[in-house]
Amino acid sequence: MKYSTQLLGLFTSVALAAPIDLSRSDLHKLFIRQDVQSAVNASLPNVTIFATGGTIASQGTSNTQTTGYSVGLGVQQLVNAVPEILNISNIAGYQISNVDSGSINETISLKLAKMINEELAKSTVSGVVVTHGTDTLEETAFFLSSTITSSKPVILVGAMRPATALSADGPLNLFQAVTLAASPAAHNRGTMVVLNDRIGSAFYTTKNNANTLDTFFSTEAGQLGVFVNQVPFFFYAPAEPVGRVTFDVANVTDLAQVDILYSHQDMDPYLFNVSIAGGAKGIVFAGVGAGGMSRVASLNAERVFNATGVPIVASHRSSDGEDIVAVGAYGGVGE
Ligand code: ASP
Repeated sequence: MKYSTQLLGLFTSVALAAPIDLSRSDLHKLFIRQDVQSAVNASLPNVTIFATGGTIASQGTSNTQTTGYSVGLGVQQLVNAVPEILNISNIAGYQISNVDSGSINETISLKLAKMINEELAKSTVSGVVVTHGTDTLEETAFFLSSTITSSKPVILVGAMRPATALSADGPLNLFQAVTLAASPAAHNRGTMVVLNDRIGSAFYTTKNNANTLDTFFSTEAGQLGVFVNQVPFFFYAPAEPVGRVTFDVANVTDLAQVDILYSHQDMDPYLFNVSIAGGAKGIVFAGVGAGGMSRVASLNAERVFNATGVPIVASHRSSDGEDIVAVGAYGGVGE
């Protein structure tokens, strides 16, 4: 698959007269709509949208269809659906990919991180919005939270209903995301997630319901804020999540393969060997309870670690709480 990384139409005044033909090779161009071109205003903040696909960019065959739709809308069409955002910000766009978020990979993630860092380094750019499928949105959000060095806002946004649905949530979510990216109050708060009127920290927010609009939240850490009449309201002054570390990926071209193994009763202990044979350079196991696994699995994990030196790191399948074992080379022995 070919992904365009070309910046096209940055704060452009070029008008788009005809509807977008999705087969065009220059699909990735973003033009400001002709009828809202007067909204391009030097006194407005500049926000850049990086579009990757997902339900927010999807269409069904009827307005009642809310599963089984497909991705197809480009960044221009997302903006066209909410011309009001051009009253609050000048918009530029990059089409990074146009896929369901299950197909987001390290190539896309690294490209995003590098391009966002470059974009935010420009004094003219106030903030960035990333449109993304919700299924793995939290992974990209966490990755960006760990690789973006700017204090300016990076906002991940998606939708639970396709663009063609009755009460599609994408347009308002996008409007709120752009509002937040343009807001001085959003600085020094790290990468954030905006859906369904809520503002969450990318460090903590997860998708909790496969179907409903009210799906992104963090039970223990809570929300950073909400939108009231489209105005962002933060509950607290800016703060850093404890434990967040950032990595410089400017010269990184690929990421090490890390496999995630899910612990359960009768877990196959040889999954560790399968991972190593498949090229894993690290293994995270989602342990039972606070990070354990069966005795037989843990004995084999220890054998594999001693033989290969590949780090095996304990996490847990419980959605909240801390691990009993500190993250390290090996841990998590259960009975
Ligand atoms: N399948 C979609 C995805 O790309 C789901 C969504 O965006 O809500 O993750």
